[in-house]
Amino acid sequence: MTNRLAAARQALSELRDPEIPTVGILELGMLHDLREEDGVMVVELLPTFSGCPAIGVITDEVQKTLVEAGLEPLRVLVRADLPWSTSMITETGRRQVAEFGIVPPPPRSLVVEDVVCLNCHERNVALVSRFGSTPCRATAKCRSCGEPLQLFKPVGVSSGA
Ligand SMILES: [Zn+2]
Repeated sequence: MTNRLAAARQALSELRDPEIPTVGILELGMLHDLREEDGVMVVELLPTFSGCPAIGVITDEVQKTLVEAGLEPLRVLVRADLPWSTSMITETGRRQVAEFGIVPPPPRSLVVEDVVCLNCHERNVALVSRFGSTPCRATAKCRSCGEPLQLFKPVGVSSGA
């Protein structure tokens, strides 16, 4: 990796998801490719949720961040043709999701028995709705402590929602 690409990766590691601002976009697995083509830096991003309005914001942020880091010329592409999956979220990313107060996505389908309450850490959660405050979330409630929970829905995994 060249110094220029390393500098770009460093700059991008500072960027956070607009919907879950504790989570880095790199930790979400959104950076598909970063390369140089004839002196032009090419950044390929994966949209996390199809139709997620955040991707436009993130694309602008990526562009702005790299320009400010003096890394032009560059091109930012969104690879809507490639699947993103919640299994691409790193361990750090999962911790960052929980820090924001959202239950990280289960590894496979949305099996509510696998969900651990962020408040009391009991595994006794009931799904309230598959739809939450944003398209990527479902709403649940802990039966043990009564805490309402937002779940990060699994996407693109074997038998996912
Ligand atoms: Zn609880």
